[in-house]
Amino acid sequence: MREPGPARRPYTKRDLNAIYRALIEAYGPQQWWPTAAEDGPEQRFEICLGAILTQNTAWRGAAAALANLQGASATTPEAILDLPEPVLGDLLRPSGYFNTKARKVRVFCDSVLDAGGIDELLGGDADDVRARLLALWGVGPETADSIILYAARKPTFVVDAYAYRLFERLGRPPGKRDYDTYRMYFLERLGDDVWTLNQWHALIVRHGQQICLRTRPQCGACILEPRCEFSRGDAGHEVD
Ligand code: SF4
Repeated sequence: MREPGPARRPYTKRDLNAIYRALIEAYGPQQWWPTAAEDGPEQRFEICLGAILTQNTAWRGAAAALANLQGASATTPEAILDLPEPVLGDLLRPSGYFNTKARKVRVFCDSVLDAGGIDELLGGDADDVRARLLALWGVGPETADSIILYAARKPTFVVDAYAYRLFERLGRPPGKRDYDTYRMYFLERLGDDVWTLNQWHALIVRHGQQICLRTRPQCGACILEPRCEFSRGDAGHEVD
């Protein structure tokens, strides 16, 4: 294994804008919960459940679990809490870790009712909502930020394994793999436009799932290849 080369400074705001333009040119605008603001509290509640159910699993598993809840007419906090926990677990089985997720979903439903509704739980500025969500058992930073960005439609940046991989491979990570380091770096440079932040996360995921694969990245087909250290063999080490 080669020694890592000298660390290069993280990208500037201008660099990030260029990467964003390249990604959106390659993939087009991503349709991640685009109508949440117009669709009302039921849709926002569903987005929150989706953020919990997709923890440690692919989205299709979470989507299948959401479809099961719909099929059982369990689409409100009250209806979900009325289900015996084993029944709820069975409905959530496609999302994996289903017993744990059943408990997480129940905790979330309780918090919605305690707050007086989903819009009350998600009310206030982004920092207040984030603190409220992080206080709930089963809600970590990535889940909280997904809920804030896609359900509450307030500004935050969602950090995930795709973001770590991409910026490490490009050779200009914000720092070590640390959720808050990445989140603050992006928030300070990308501003607070919710649509743009929505697109950033969705585009990084799309790129990581389609081109910048964990093994065998498709560098020959990558719009970011000209600026990527990994593709030049300069990254110095493998990146998961
Ligand atoms: S050039 Fe290869 S390693 Fe670099 S971002 Fe593109 S797919 Fe990933």
